[in-house]
Amino acid sequence: MSKSKDKRIKKLKRKRIWPSILGLFLIASVFFVFMLIVLVTSVVDVVDDKITSSYEASSHIVRRHVEPNVENLEQSYEGILTDIALNDEVEAVSIVRAGEEEWSSNGRYPDQSVRLTYMELFNEENGYVDYDIIIEEDEQNVVVKQGDEYSVNKGFLKKIDIKTILSQLDKTNEEKYVPLAALKLWYVFPVEDMEINVLNHIAVYSYDVVLLIFVALMFAALLVIFIIYYIFTIIGLIASQSRVTKVLYTDIVTGGENWLSFVRKGGRLIKRNYGNRNFYAVIHFRMEKYRSFCTCFGVKDGEELLERFYNVLKKQVRRKEAMAHYEQADFALLLKYDEVEELKSRIENIEKLLNNITPNIKLYFSSGVCLVENRSQDIEELFNNAMAATALLDEDAEIRIAFFDIEMKKQQLWERKVEDEMERALKNKEFKVYLQPKYSAKEERMAGAEALVRWVHPVEGFIPPNRFIPIFEKNGFILQLDDYMIEEVARQQAKWIGEGKEVVPISVNVSRAHFTREDLAEHICGLVDRFQIPHDVIELELTESAFFDDKQVLLNTVKKLRDHGFIVSMDDFGAGYSSLNSLKELHIDVLKIDADFFRGADSLERGMKIVSNVIELAKKLEMKIVAEGIESREQVDFLATQNCDLIQGYYFAKPMPIEEFEEKYKEANN
Ligand code: C2E
Ligand code: CA
Ligand code: CA
Repeated sequence: MSKSKDKRIKKLKRKRIWPSILGLFLIASVFFVFMLIVLVTSVVDVVDDKITSSYEASSHIVRRHVEPNVENLEQSYEGILTDIALNDEVEAVSIVRAGEEEWSSNGRYPDQSVRLTYMELFNEENGYVDYDIIIEEDEQNVVVKQGDEYSVNKGFLKKIDIKTILSQLDKTNEEKYVPLAALKLWYVFPVEDMEINVLNHIAVYSYDVVLLIFVALMFAALLVIFIIYYIFTIIGLIASQSRVTKVLYTDIVTGGENWLSFVRKGGRLIKRNYGNRNFYAVIHFRMEKYRSFCTCFGVKDGEELLERFYNVLKKQVRRKEAMAHYEQADFALLLKYDEVEELKSRIENIEKLLNNITPNIKLYFSSGVCLVENRSQDIEELFNNAMAATALLDEDAEIRIAFFDIEMKKQQLWERKVEDEMERALKNKEFKVYLQPKYSAKEERMAGAEALVRWVHPVEGFIPPNRFIPIFEKNGFILQLDDYMIEEVARQQAKWIGEGKEVVPISVNVSRAHFTREDLAEHICGLVDRFQIPHDVIELELTESAFFDDKQVLLNTVKKLRDHGFIVSMDDFGAGYSSLNSLKELHIDVLKIDADFFRGADSLERGMKIVSNVIELAKKLEMKIVAEGIESREQVDFLATQNCDLIQGYYFAKPMPIEEFEEKYKEANN
């Protein structure tokens, strides 16, 4: 598969799902973190409010009962006890004077040693201890645990690791409103030489949490909606992706697998399974004359037939094998085999099964087989080889299975080499003009010649045209080569005319590929006119086959060429599928009778009869006759009696280089 094709398929199949999933996770986690921050700040706010309120209650007791009565504290105790009883938050008050425990509402004091540590620390750092409390051993934390009571530095509350507070919240059942959690804190108020310690009971009740739960639920709901929306988007993406893949690998006509799927699957099978007693063959399987079938029964029926073929073939394909519709009535198969004979009979059996589909119509199939030789072979290349084998099957061959072999491989390599080198060869003038003389039948004088190309390759040496012309005809290079030949012949004629020599018309072959351009006549004029020679020294040989391409272009071009004074001849008349009808419409100057009429011992007599009648017919249509491929004296004599005009063949001369031709011409005309 070409790289760009591969890229295009990959682009179509590219999964855009991962970025979406990643995006989902990313956005969900950002959302989650945001939610957590909001929740935590809410919790901190609630706890902070509670602590502030309990601190204010504590400081209120100190300001109301202790500070006005510093001298006589005894008077305050009752007030303190009443406030404690009225207050939900304050649990106990104790007074320590000069390090001595003096009084406590319920006999409890904060732990002296820890409190002292804290006091010292704060004295050192701040110089003045305002209020506040005690520090834990790590000194960073402002919370200290004394049994089940905690002390917290209010001023430092923001620094408190909220987790520590929450983890230290004690569950308790002591209150009338059962709190969810409770925290006991000592506040310490220095008043003159005393420290007033107030033990607070900070409880978190369920109604405190309701708001938090509400906020959390809101966020959770949003998060769930968001995740569901995203999941649906991703499912949609996956579905559309699998739809693209399905369309990519489905054949429209049969509804089965298509060529692309075959390449992917088959390629993988060969790569993974070839060897270890698994031998594979790639098969190009074709129904012959599908077009005729469609013409008779309609395209719809034709496509239905292909669908049924597909279904039958599908059933014949075993595990680790592959099959697909290629194009028109062509199928691609990748089958395993042990013996070639067994493979052949399997293919024959498939043909039989397919023929059963239409009991009243006999169908014909061809198969080209290319055996896989190693696991690194490219399946498209293998199928191409299989097709090359099918193409070589003779139309009327009895056995319609052909194997791609070494000879074909060689031919393929040769074609590639020719294609690689043809441009360079043309530039380097490796293509040489050879001339084969044409003789008049009666006087046996040289009266014309045909230009035939030869490739003199720097390494391969002399290459005859049948080894490269068919390749050029396939790839279109023949257009350039024929132009080159016309120019070379025109150049040669101009040279001879310039030297005052008598010249004979030289014919050049014009491939049928030229007859697609409507300005062909003008194009040829352009090529020849550069050399300023009369047009009638150039003859253009075209084959009847061009008649079947674009008849109108051919007819117009021939007319224009003759109007411009060129001689036009029909080459190989009678070879292949010829139609006398073409002579009716095509006004040409010369008819070249194909060499085949003079071959074959059995049919020679009939051939001669046809030749003499064709000559008669041509005369009536005012055409000249050239007999090609004449090799014997008898043939020459026969043609002379039949009023044939010119003879071209080995009997008189083979194609030769221009210098040799010049010599021969001099000899013949002296
Ligand atoms: P063609 O145009 O029919 O040319 C006649 C072929 O018959 C030539 O083969 C010639 O060498 C061969 N021939 C002539 N007399 C005899 C004979 O007595 N006995 C036998 N056995 N053969 C004879 P060549 O040169 O090998 O060319 C083969 C074909 O290649 C040509 O057939 C023509 O179709 C094509 N060709 C050659 N040169 C060109 C060209 O420049 N342009 C195009 N388009 N085709 C060319
Ligand atoms: Ca010819
Ligand atoms: Ca010919």
